[in-house]
Amino acid sequence: MKCENDEKKLDFIRNIVAQDVEAGLDMAKIHTRFPPEPNGFLHIGHAKAICVDFGIAEEFGGKCNLRFDDTNPSKEDVKYVESIMRDVKWLGFDWEDRLYYASDFFGKMFEYAVQLIKKGKAYVCDLTAEEIREHRGTLTTPGKDSPCRNRSVEENLRLFHDMRDGKLPEGSKTLRAKIDMAHTNITMRDPVMYRILFAMHHRTGDKWCIYPTYDWAHGLEDSIEGITHSICTLEFEIHRPLYDWFLDELEVECHPRQIEFARLNLTYTVMSKRKLLELVEGKFVEGWDDPRLPTLAGMRRRGHTPEAIRKFCETVGITKYDSLTDIALLEHCLREDLNKRAKRVMAVMKPVKVVIANYPENDTEELDAINNPEDESAGKRKVPFSKILYIEQDDFKEIPPPKYHRLSPGTEVRLRYAYIIKCTGVIKNPATGEIIEVICEYDPMTRGGNTADGRKIKGTIHWVSAKHAEKAEIRLYDKLFNTESPDEVPAGGDFKDNLNPNSLEIAEALVEPSLKNSAPGEIFQFERVGYFCADHDSTKEKPIFNRTVSLKDSWNKLPGKN
Ligand code: ATP
Ligand code: MG
Repeated sequence: MKCENDEKKLDFIRNIVAQDVEAGLDMAKIHTRFPPEPNGFLHIGHAKAICVDFGIAEEFGGKCNLRFDDTNPSKEDVKYVESIMRDVKWLGFDWEDRLYYASDFFGKMFEYAVQLIKKGKAYVCDLTAEEIREHRGTLTTPGKDSPCRNRSVEENLRLFHDMRDGKLPEGSKTLRAKIDMAHTNITMRDPVMYRILFAMHHRTGDKWCIYPTYDWAHGLEDSIEGITHSICTLEFEIHRPLYDWFLDELEVECHPRQIEFARLNLTYTVMSKRKLLELVEGKFVEGWDDPRLPTLAGMRRRGHTPEAIRKFCETVGITKYDSLTDIALLEHCLREDLNKRAKRVMAVMKPVKVVIANYPENDTEELDAINNPEDESAGKRKVPFSKILYIEQDDFKEIPPPKYHRLSPGTEVRLRYAYIIKCTGVIKNPATGEIIEVICEYDPMTRGGNTADGRKIKGTIHWVSAKHAEKAEIRLYDKLFNTESPDEVPAGGDFKDNLNPNSLEIAEALVEPSLKNSAPGEIFQFERVGYFCADHDSTKEKPIFNRTVSLKDSWNKLPGKN
């Protein structure tokens, strides 16, 4: 068992599993599942659930299933099924041959319902959805029995078969469990198990016109698959007595244990699939994989890595209480990972021209550049240098502020991997006063960046060679929302009112020539600028880079972090 690590304190779920093992549960039998409903793309909250479900099974030597909880055909689609499989794999988890669909069990669920009717523990009810709600009562008052509650077993069986056979109109009847309309837990007040719905299902077509509710279906799915620990989020805590009631009443092969943990909530982020769908359908973003979305597809396109996401989920941990995690922690985990693996390259975002007056007119030199100082195995590459270069406008100041260690008239600066240059003059646009050219001289003895006489040069700046540089489209992404809790809106407001109108800025940059051949998805550190990743639409002819995250880490500065 990998998690038997003295230094690492087990979270409460791993503790429960460990106790079950201690009490005699065979570790190889530990079985969890990740049960997404295929009605949207997975997001970072699901990543947390995936890490818990697959992670725990893996650590204890058990198994985890991928199960599509496809019980609500009106909102589900195969495109979501496909995206979910892609995302789970991308995160680094493997369900092997254990891919299940709740819809595969519709037949068995029907048989179980018949079992319950025969026991006198379920009945067909004529009340409309509205009436059922009215009969339900409140937290402080008991509910009222349905007039259909005492139907005979025979009548219930006949009506339930009529429901299944399409003989009854949509919405006209439901099958309900017969529990207790005065139960203190409202979910136990004769919950609905089946409703009539003439909808095409993406897998079963029109075979069924009755569909199970979550409460009825979920425990059965778990039980049929032999799940031992059914891990879900806190909103299901109140449903646990019902989960157990169904499994206790039925002759099932196994009775899994439901365990709830708190959802992941992130600042500046909405995580509800309904809201994400609204953003996609309303074209507030460019699709489910828009790099501003917290969807795994969007995060992947933005340049997030599975390793960083898993590390983030591990760092956040598992608790029983709701909380809000600072998005700076996600970015911190991402930077730590990108720092280890991103190839360093040079790109100039806002260029100003530099002419090296004493450099030979048509010469080009190939200079050695280190690909990643954190990883020697990443090797070196050649970067071309010539007489005319571009540097960032910000790296030159005609009148330097105090402690400015970059380029200014009369001072020296190091060009990364190249030479030390000194500014000898500027050329301005006479009409606007704008600097159009910075004139410099280079010291030929400083190739590689070291002075021969030991004089100290404080500043190092990045650059590209004008005649070798490539133009690239740069997509600068910022937070999608302006406020920490975009779900919180005043009465009459809408979460979309909190959208940040400047969440995407498109710019053009000049990049070193090696970037022309970058593969979509490839990640880079543009030195001194930030982490970027080649967009999946990037081509040789038109390179496009998405800003993944800036270099500056705000996490370490946050009060009360960890
Ligand atoms: P929504 O409420 O937005 O519709 P959902 O929770 O219903 O999302 P599912 O497809 O049912 O979406 O989720 C699959 C699994 O992922 C469930 O076990 C659910 O509890 C878990 N999950 C969903 N959102 C989060 C989250 N923010 N943090 C942790 N786990 C989550
Ligand atoms: Mg759900």
